[in-house]
Amino acid sequence: MNRKTLLIFSSNKNKINEIKKFLPKKKYYFKNIKSLKESAAPKETGKSFAENAKIKSKFGYKIYGIPCIADDSGISIRALSGKPGIYSNRFQKENGGYKKSFKKIILATKKKNNNFAYFTCVISLTYDKNKTVTFTGKKNGVITDLPLGKRGFGYDPIFKPEKSKKTYGQMIKKEKMKNSHRSIALKKLNTFLKRIN
Ligand code: IMP
Repeated sequence: MNRKTLLIFSSNKNKINEIKKFLPKKKYYFKNIKSLKESAAPKETGKSFAENAKIKSKFGYKIYGIPCIADDSGISIRALSGKPGIYSNRFQKENGGYKKSFKKIILATKKKNNNFAYFTCVISLTYDKNKTVTFTGKKNGVITDLPLGKRGFGYDPIFKPEKSKKTYGQMIKKEKMKNSHRSIALKKLNTFLKRIN
């Protein structure tokens, strides 16, 4: 069987790694967007993860003319009324980086006495001019009292998924990808890809 080429429209190395690890290498060649300048990237003006993921996968398909997947994801924290959600990246930048953001989040969860949080990941696939589909993965969990672990990326050290003794930051990649918000979305994508290819 010929391998198909899939464009991963992301400049986030960690996301790309997690996506690549999950999809069957025997079936796909992966192409990244290294060559695309930041200025040429589409504005993520959507009001939801799905809208933003769709903007990116449609844009990638338009530029490169090959099937394109994009990921939009983030963390929602009950003690912050569901924020930062789709603004997770902006939140950490506005707060001076992840370390400072962790402090702010942990403080809020203690103040409100509520540590519930969840991650969302939406993967969008554009595989033809007017054919775009999205797949959603959600993972409930809690914010820990301290950041734990140096693995993973982003908010991983402060998020402990339900039924787990470890934070994402304490898990090796394989462990995180067993049942993370991203792997739930990618499983659905995989099933779909099998159907259309
Ligand atoms: P995006 O690249 O605009 O979708 O930004 C996503 C934001 O959520 C970034 O701040 C990421 O660090 C964070 N994020 C997304 N997925 C994960 C994850 O799996 N673990 C930790 N942080 C994540």
